[in-house]
Amino acid sequence: MSNKEQTLSIIKPDAVERNLSEKIKSIFSKNNLSILETKKLHISKEEAAEFYKVHQSKPFYDKLCNYLSSGPLEAIILEGENAISKNRELMGATNPKDAKDGTIRKLYGISIDKNSVHGSDSVENAKVEINFFFKA
Ligand code: UDP
Ligand code: MG
Repeated sequence: MSNKEQTLSIIKPDAVERNLSEKIKSIFSKNNLSILETKKLHISKEEAAEFYKVHQSKPFYDKLCNYLSSGPLEAIILEGENAISKNRELMGATNPKDAKDGTIRKLYGISIDKNSVHGSDSVENAKVEINFFFKA
C-alpha cells in the first residue's frame, strides 16, 4: 500500500552558511522526496524556542535555540512515499560521529549541535512543524 507523507526539513544555519543547500536538496530529489515549498528565513530566539519547545527541559535547549536563530535557515516541505522516515534515514544519526556513511549528517555535520539538518519525527509533529513555517 502506498503511504504518501509530507515532512518538514530544515537546512540549519551551519549548512546554509557553508552554501550546502543545493547539495542537500539534490540528495532529497535523488531519493524520491519532492520539494514542494522552500522558505529561507532568519528566525528569532523566541521563535526557535517555540519550534523546539518539546526540548525545553533538556540541558542543551538554550544553546539549541541560540544556534537555530544564529543565521538564516531554509525550511522545506518534502513529500513522498514514507517521507518522514525516509528523510530521517537520509539525515543520519543526531550526532554526525554516529551517522552512517552517505548520510547528510555524516557528509556535512560539524558536531552534535551543528548537525546541518532537521527532520520531523512523526506524522503529528510534521503537521505542526510544517504549519509553523508555512501557515497561510
Ligand atoms: N542537540 C544538541 N545536543 C544534544 C542533543 C541534541 O545540541 O545532546 C540538538 C541537535 O541539533 C539536534 C536537536 O538538538 O538536532 C534536536 O534533538 P533531537 O534529539 O530531536 O535530534 P534530531 O531529531 O534532530 O536527530
Ligand atoms: Mg528531533
